[in-house]
Amino acid sequence: MAERRLQVTSRLGLHARAAANLVRVASQFKSRITLQRLDGNAEEADAKSILSILTLAASRGTDLKIVAGGEDEQEALEAVVGLFSRDFDETEKDDGKYISRATNEVRCKGLGVSDGVVIGRVLRLQEGTRNVYRAEIAEGDLERERRRFRAAVRLSRRQLETIKDRAEKELGRGHAYIFDAHLLFLHDAKLTRDVEDYIVKERSNAEWAAKVVGDRLPSIYTQINDEYLRERGSDIEDVIQRLLANLTGEGHKYPNLSEDAVIVSTDMLPSTIAELNLNHVKAIATDAGGWTSHMAIIARGLGLTTVVGLRDFYQRTRTGDRIVVDARRGEVILHPADETIAQYQFTPAGPTPAAPHVVEFGPVRTLDGVEVSLRANVELPTEFQSIHDFGACGVGLFRSEFLLSRHGLMTSDVEQYETYKLLAETAGEYGAIVRLFDVGGELGPDVKERERNPALGLRAVRFSLRHKEIMRTQVRAILRAAAAGPLSLVIPMVADVADVRLAKRVIEEELEHLKAENVPYSPVQIGVMIEVPSAVLTAEKIAGEVDFFELGTNDLVQYTLAVDRGNDKVSEWFRTLHPAVLYGINRTLEAAGDARIPVIVCGEMASTPAYAVLLIGLGAIDLSMTPATIPRVRAVLSQINAGEARDIAMRCLAAATADEVEELVRREFKARWPDLFPSNSLPKAAESSQ
Ligand code: PEP
Ligand code: MG
Repeated sequence: MAERRLQVTSRLGLHARAAANLVRVASQFKSRITLQRLDGNAEEADAKSILSILTLAASRGTDLKIVAGGEDEQEALEAVVGLFSRDFDETEKDDGKYISRATNEVRCKGLGVSDGVVIGRVLRLQEGTRNVYRAEIAEGDLERERRRFRAAVRLSRRQLETIKDRAEKELGRGHAYIFDAHLLFLHDAKLTRDVEDYIVKERSNAEWAAKVVGDRLPSIYTQINDEYLRERGSDIEDVIQRLLANLTGEGHKYPNLSEDAVIVSTDMLPSTIAELNLNHVKAIATDAGGWTSHMAIIARGLGLTTVVGLRDFYQRTRTGDRIVVDARRGEVILHPADETIAQYQFTPAGPTPAAPHVVEFGPVRTLDGVEVSLRANVELPTEFQSIHDFGACGVGLFRSEFLLSRHGLMTSDVEQYETYKLLAETAGEYGAIVRLFDVGGELGPDVKERERNPALGLRAVRFSLRHKEIMRTQVRAILRAAAAGPLSLVIPMVADVADVRLAKRVIEEELEHLKAENVPYSPVQIGVMIEVPSAVLTAEKIAGEVDFFELGTNDLVQYTLAVDRGNDKVSEWFRTLHPAVLYGINRTLEAAGDARIPVIVCGEMASTPAYAVLLIGLGAIDLSMTPATIPRVRAVLSQINAGEARDIAMRCLAAATADEVEELVRREFKARWPDLFPSNSLPKAAESSQ
């Protein structure tokens, strides 16, 4: 027998590719070669079996014992040890994501969609999974915690037995085998032992322990380039979710939760963000997403430090990993070195506090006297107060769909009424515009019913017209709440006059019902979102049917340019300043002007000072935006001439490409308003900024 102890030093540990190299080398020898973790956290592994090696989950720093036994044991041991010392012969490819081999740091570039820097701990979260927080358990309660975990395991087993029986009966044996696998995981002593050990060692609550241990397991599998084995990873995730559901189902509340959680996810439903406990979650990092994706909008609104578009970052992380999220530079750093953390500690954590300013209220005037209203876009009741904090002229857009639970439960009419009433009361004299639920698209009320092409599917007004009972409940709640203060109602994503008429009919019917029932209510102004090309092209016809327009530039860009606003792979095609988008805006403003109805521009374009100036140049005088951006937009608009903005906007309309428009904006803005627009506030050369 020949034996050697060593430590895994390669950055990614003994992962799939490295394991494959090890198998290749070990298989050249007749001797049996085994690897064993010195911390005893895994079974002895056979160096000629990739799966066996992977079950070691040997990350960087793991101490191993290697034993070779047989006629060529000495050579075999030397060869294997040599491979370890050469970091498994891997040439680490620098794909622009890693900067340091010497440290463990992994840097990933994405898109910062809000402000701030946060140093925290990863909390991996997949859609459909539960939020789990860490709690410290008192020494005397650890045994109870372990019992609670065992009870959840037993309950999960019983549930799985039942599901398996049913699957066998209804689907046949062939389909039930999957639950055998799930049951095997639950019977696997390694899983239960690891969780219980973690509870005791870390004095952790069972939920957190199960999540940390569970996160480690599938990661072994997801790196494997074999569909079957990868599937086993998602099975484990499934089992862990069941365990968590059964644990948290007991309704334990923990007062001392960790307060530095950074949610890392492939993608997030906006309503998931809306449900997060903001006392604990400090930042978000997602693989998907763009500047105007709903999750980015809401994260910005909540002031959460957020980086999106990180591509394959999620799979690199484990719950509990240390992380820096730098939204200002659009970067995340996993396993930051001490020096990196020290550097960041000089930067104030969290979003930059707004410079102390005297909040100004009311419309802003440009130097040549054009009066512009600045309203607030809000998504959650917790944001209502920000209307006053930032001097908004009421609420230009309440994205009411965030009231809906991601589990597909519609909020009751009472809850809705209370919320709209609070909104009306808080918004004050300028009033608030409530949008009918814009569900579908990214927001599906029921994730299971995802459509093939949700942005073009049963979204917004189409959803309301298909589910009239939901629409009626909402309309009634709005009409009743309007008795408490000025509310208007806006219908999202109408494609044409037909949509408008159908929706208006429902609203009128509900007005009649309320009247007949003697329920207090107030009639409301009715507007439509113009955000689809067909609505732009028929804007003058639609204008004759409604009291006002809202220009949703986020969707207008998405639909005009056929670019999914939440897909980071096509973000370079998402060009807010594309001439086609500017035509659409211009045309809508003209049609509304002819019909003498107001237009509120409420897409993210209005939140961006340079774009807000262009909007003024195109003739907009009513903008609605993320509340925190109002003071900056106000300051800029008060120092420009609308006439000059018009000059530039007209020349932009004549441009042929987004690049040309952006170049023109850069040149003209720098020349006319050098103090207002530093280079980083203008579209970047050779790539779009949004
Ligand atoms: C828009 O599309 O610009 C808009 C304001 O609505 P949302 O971002 O919610 O789709
Ligand atoms: Mg929209």
